[in-house]
Order: sequence, then C-alpha cells, then structure tokens
Amino acid sequence: MDRIENLCVEKGMRMTEQRRVIARVLSQAHDHPDVEELYRRSHDVDPHISIATVYRTVRLFEEAGIIARHDFRDGRSRYEEATEIHHDHLIDMKSGKVVEFVDEEIEALQEAIAHKLGYKLVDHRLELYGVPIEE
Ligand SMILES: [Zn+2]
Repeated sequence: MDRIENLCVEKGMRMTEQRRVIARVLSQAHDHPDVEELYRRSHDVDPHISIATVYRTVRLFEEAGIIARHDFRDGRSRYEEATEIHHDHLIDMKSGKVVEFVDEEIEALQEAIAHKLGYKLVDHRLELYGVPIEE
C-alpha cells in the first residue's frame, strides 16, 4: 500500500478499488496535478473511473487532510500530498511550472512578524509568481 492509501485506511475511510487507484496516482505524482490531469492518469489505470468520481474522491481526501489543495491563479485547483515537511511554491508564469522551495530566513521572518502582531504562527502559505530572468 502506498502512503495516501495507508492514511485513508488509518482514518477509517472505505476504500473502493477506484479510490485506491486515485490514491495511488496522487502518491506517485511529483507535480501538482489538477483534477483533469488526475482523471487522465487514473483513467489510464482504470478506464471505468469517471471525472465525477475523481472530483468526489479528491474532495474527500482533502477534507480528511490527506492532500492539500492549491490555487495558483490559473483557475484550476491543484493537489499534492499533505506532507509534514513544509514547503512553499514559486510559479513560473510563462510555463506554469511549479518550483518548490524552503527558506529558513523567510520561515523565521514570518514567525517574527506574527509575534510582533501578537500571534503565534500556526500555518502560512507563500506563493511567488515570476518569469524566468532572460540571460
Ligand atoms: Zn508543493
């Protein structure tokens, strides 16, 4: 069993064969696919899977905190496994490529800002939007 499938079982989710396929596709994704892309990949494994099933399953996994949803301003929700290790995203506005990064200085700065405003930081999201620097 892969990680997402395992988490679903741990959370007591009823795992149908189609849900297993979608869980596996999500576990194997190293990018940030949207529902249509997830549908394409799942459909390659099991042609009986409908896009409606992918929508429902993804919503179910998201509500259970197993996957994270992102909105990178292109009108499509994108998904990735919710990992304990935090990372932020840089979106290449030219190609749509999503680059993951972690920066200790930014992490510390955000905590300091929240603290200064009288808060203990519990979560944050940071998205950088850029175009490649031409050489
Ligand atoms: Zn990511």
